[in-house]
Amino acid sequence: MRQPGADTVLVRHADVGVKSGKVQAEMERRLRDNIEAIVRDRGIDAEVERRWSRILLHADADEIDAATDAAADTFGVRSASPAAVVPPEKGPIVDALARSAEANADATGDTFAVRARRAGTADAHPFTSEDLEREGGAAVFDALDDPEVDLTDPDTTFSVECRAEEAFVFTEKRPGPGGLPLGSQAKLVALVSGGIDSPVAAWEVMKRGAPIVPVYLELGDYGGPDHEARAMETVRRLADYAPNFDMRVRKVPAGDVMDLLAEEVGPARMLVYRRFMYRVAEHVAREVDATGIVTGEAIGQKSSQTARNLGATSQAADLPIHRPLLTMDKSAITERARDIGTFRDSTIPAGCNRIAPDYPETNATLEIVENAEPDDLFERAAEAAENATVVDV
Ligand code: ATP
Ligand code: MG
Repeated sequence: MRQPGADTVLVRHADVGVKSGKVQAEMERRLRDNIEAIVRDRGIDAEVERRWSRILLHADADEIDAATDAAADTFGVRSASPAAVVPPEKGPIVDALARSAEANADATGDTFAVRARRAGTADAHPFTSEDLEREGGAAVFDALDDPEVDLTDPDTTFSVECRAEEAFVFTEKRPGPGGLPLGSQAKLVALVSGGIDSPVAAWEVMKRGAPIVPVYLELGDYGGPDHEARAMETVRRLADYAPNFDMRVRKVPAGDVMDLLAEEVGPARMLVYRRFMYRVAEHVAREVDATGIVTGEAIGQKSSQTARNLGATSQAADLPIHRPLLTMDKSAITERARDIGTFRDSTIPAGCNRIAPDYPETNATLEIVENAEPDDLFERAAEAAENATVVDV
């Protein structure tokens, strides 16, 4: 869809709107800053302005599309529309609707509707929304070839948002991620292995406003350079959504522990590894003032993730372990990974040894795991966390 004369992007926020006045204002400021950061990061020349409960981007015609994409990639944004701005009068609005119909005559499908919203008091304009819809609808009807009106499920919706000082005319609503502006919640440590799941899990909490501190466990023979590259590349993708945040990865040496577990621990090996991992994450969290741990685990996805095993391993950490993918099927997770752009890097072959035992425990209790693990597991976790290096992506 093309909006002739579009020089403004109309941005709608998502859950920011359900907040009380003061919190909402604070969140809108943050959202504005985050949109601006992404716009700058992409080298787009746009001015970002906060107005009423909307955010506007002003840009030249040739950058409107990119500016719309930038807004639609910002956490907290519900949708973004490239819009033409016209005086808040019936004539110019109806003309703009007709131009929009003409420009998109080949792409509108079979049915259309005109939707108008007026903001402000009843007497703010000498016409009603219904007037705009009726007269705008007639003008669009004339501009299209053999059109049909469908008010319930139209192929194309021509929209007007009429304010006191100006009216916005648009045909497209590009969906954003939704959620809350990044930085509006406390930090979380995200365990990122670079597989398909963990980057999606990290993205999901970022969407709810929590900045992440990515942690990667370097697994020696069970990991290796390609495994590590995969993790770093996926974090780099995530960092595109957060150019104004610190996305450096805490890389934790865990090769020795993995060797030890491969030698000494049988069926409960993966569960001991999980307890070690949570414990490491907890140490990092305390250090960086994060309030929880995020993983890409889902109930039953792997033997280490049966409901019983999650119960047995989670007690290694006092901080809450957040699992945003808990109930998701792999196919849905994979689709999300494609949408957010982490899938390709997640599927680089890592070519490392397999750490999982042949007959893994699926029905563990805390007692079983504790009995299987080295006595000094938690000391080793503390030491590994202390030896973490900080890697720029
Ligand atoms: P992913 O779950 O990311 O696709 P995976 O399937 O190889 O990778 P799992 O065995 O399912 O990993 O691990 C469960 C979760 O544990 C991961 O989602 C991730 O949060 C965490 N995790 C596993 N290995 C590592 C690692 N080497 N570094 C950091 N986190 C890890
Ligand atoms: Mg997984």
